[in-house]
This record gives sequence, C-alpha cells and structure tokens, in this order.
Amino acid sequence: MESRAFRNPYPDYEGPASTQRLFDSAGNLTSDFIQQLQSKISELLQQMENGLIKGDETDCTSYTGWAGIALLYLHLHNIYGDQSFLQKALQYINKSLKCLTGRVVTFLCGDAGPLAIAAVVYHKLQRTQESDTYINQLLQLHQSVVKLNSRLPDEMLYGRMGYLYALSFVNDQFGTEKISLQYMKQICDAVISSGEKLSSRKRVSKSPLMYEWYQEYYVGAAHGLAGIYYFLMQPELGVDQDTAVKLVKPSVDYVCQLKFSSGNYPPCIGESRDNLVHWCHGSPGVIYMLIQAYKIFKEERYLQDAYDCAEVIWHRGLLKKGYGLCHGPAGNAYGFLAMYNLTGDKKYLYRACKFAEWCFDYGKHGCRTPDSPFSLFEGMAGTIYFLADLLQPRKAKFPAFEV
Ligand SMILES: [Zn+2]
Repeated sequence: MESRAFRNPYPDYEGPASTQRLFDSAGNLTSDFIQQLQSKISELLQQMENGLIKGDETDCTSYTGWAGIALLYLHLHNIYGDQSFLQKALQYINKSLKCLTGRVVTFLCGDAGPLAIAAVVYHKLQRTQESDTYINQLLQLHQSVVKLNSRLPDEMLYGRMGYLYALSFVNDQFGTEKISLQYMKQICDAVISSGEKLSSRKRVSKSPLMYEWYQEYYVGAAHGLAGIYYFLMQPELGVDQDTAVKLVKPSVDYVCQLKFSSGNYPPCIGESRDNLVHWCHGSPGVIYMLIQAYKIFKEERYLQDAYDCAEVIWHRGLLKKGYGLCHGPAGNAYGFLAMYNLTGDKKYLYRACKFAEWCFDYGKHGCRTPDSPFSLFEGMAGTIYFLADLLQPRKAKFPAFEV
C-alpha cells in the first residue's frame, strides 16, 4: 500500500518549538524561510526555462502546455508585482493561443484556459481591446457547454465544470463581475440536470446526482464527484439553497460513505484498492469538497472527514511520481493550506512547510520523471507555483481549481 509514496521522514508538529525556524506564533514566515523559498523559486525557474526549450510546441493547455507556464508567470506577477513576470506570461500565452485545440472547452485541458488567461494578461497590460476579444471568444464556447443533449462530460478536466472555472477565474482576476453570474448559473443548472438524469437512468445508488467519465463513476477532484460538488456548493456560482440541500447535500453524503477505513477515498465507485493519494484521485482532492460542505452546511462530521484526509496526506502524500500538482507533494500540500485557512491551526501550516522542504530537494529522491517534466500540472512549474503560494499562505489556492 505504501509503495507509491516515500515514508514521511519529518517529525510531526509539536507546538511552537517545532516551527521556530519556519514561522512565528502569528504564522508569519521567518526571513530565513522566505529566503529559502525565494532562492529555490529562482533556481527552479531557471531550470524550467532551460527545459522548456525542448518542450512540445503544440500543447496549448494549462495542464501540460504553454498556458500553464503563462499561468505560473501571472501568479508570480501577482505575488511579486514584477512587470517582467507579466511580460513572460504574455510571451507564453501568445504561444498557447497559436495552437488552441478547437475541441476541448475546459480551463485545464482545453481552450477556455488559454483564452481566460489571455484576457487577464492583456487586461493587466491595459490592452483592453485585445482582452475583450479573448473574453468574447471564451463566451462563444458557452452555448455548447450548457447544451444538454451533447456528449460533454461534467467533470473538471474535460467537462462543464472545467469551463465554469475559466469564467470564475476571469472574475476573480479582474476583481469585478466582468462575466455575468448568469452564465455560471446556467452551467450549474446544466450540471444539475445532467446529474439527475444519470442518477435516475443508472440507479447506481441512492445519490440524487451522479456523474460519469469514460463509463466510470469517478470520485476525485479531477474527473469525479468531489470536484463537481465542490463547485455546486459555491453559493456565488448560483446554485440556490433549496437545490443545495435537496440534491447536492445527499450526493456529498454519498461520497462521504465511500471513505476507506484509512480516511482516504477510492478513485472510482466500486474500487476497493486504497492506493492513490493524489489531488486527481483520493483524499487530497476530496478534502476541498468536505471543507466546502462544512462551510455551507455547518455539520461537524464534514470537518472530521477533512481532518482524516489531512492525516492521510501527511502520512502518504510524498509521492514517488514526482513533485507536481496533480499527483505530487506540491499539489498534496495545498490540502494542508486549505485546512490552515479553515481552522487557523498551525499544524497545517507546519505540514505545508515540510512538504515545501521536501520539494527543496527536487530531483534528489529518485522519483519518476513525468511525461511533461516542466509543466504546471505534472512537473516543475507546478512545484514553483506552490512554493510561491507558500510565501502568502493565507491567500493560497490550488491553481485552476479552488475558487
Ligand atoms: Zn493526477
């Protein structure tokens, strides 16, 4: 069971004495630790730039392609305020726009990511006309997303929720309702209808909503139920209270009862092997659904399940697959940051810092090299994104997912 992860070599949090080198009693990082983070960020950025020269010229996506690199630089610009990062974001998003898929509509694996990121980058450069053009192009995809009798799935990577995220990203980055919430509500309505339809047709469960991807009922954040319900529980995205209570809550509860005795969750309904601790499959992705359920339904049991997820991540989250976001320690550490931001408990900030220290030794643990070794979701860009987010842990959000 443990063969997919390294044994966690770090002692766990033991009160303020264990964190002195990392942060003070108010959670402010020490100047030493900030220095360490910053120098690692610079070093890895240089390695990434060198590696990207040999990258796949035709991958536009945020997941493994140019838009993901642009998103990293936009993030660095937002944190450091440095214009040169914005110029880099511009350079990479322009590469991405030259090779759009023309087929996939999502933020991570399709055209909505490049278009949304381009709209934001041009907006920040005060090139309003170009920014508006990309927003219009982004909104042109909306019709096909809300159409119900299409084969479009509902999950994050290839489906409706992955398009919804792109719209919410634009509004978040603009700081205004640049895109009317009506557009988002229509997507949530379509996702609800689609989930009700499958639930009644398949009768797989007592869950009033059900979703599939490639004929499997996935559970995790990337392809499955937990990712979809995370969005359906965001009040600002337009799901009304009545629907949330009658349809979403019992569907969330259905996911909750799939929990293994370890506290982890299966990748698919019916899978009995408890071996994946990834953002894409397992507790590091399900934790966001649980936190959101706790926030809106105010029931202690969701928080308890989220605590259990965090334990699983701490013990089994240093993966042998590499250092990335989708299935690696950088992505897994965001679960600790989400728990820190929910509870204020320094244990979780400590654990995120320890996973960052693991990433300081990038490449030295004998991990496998991913197919896209410098990309945002599989590779080095994602690790840099996480280390930069740790500089301001209170604002940290899992990229291309957390709203
Ligand atoms: Zn993954």
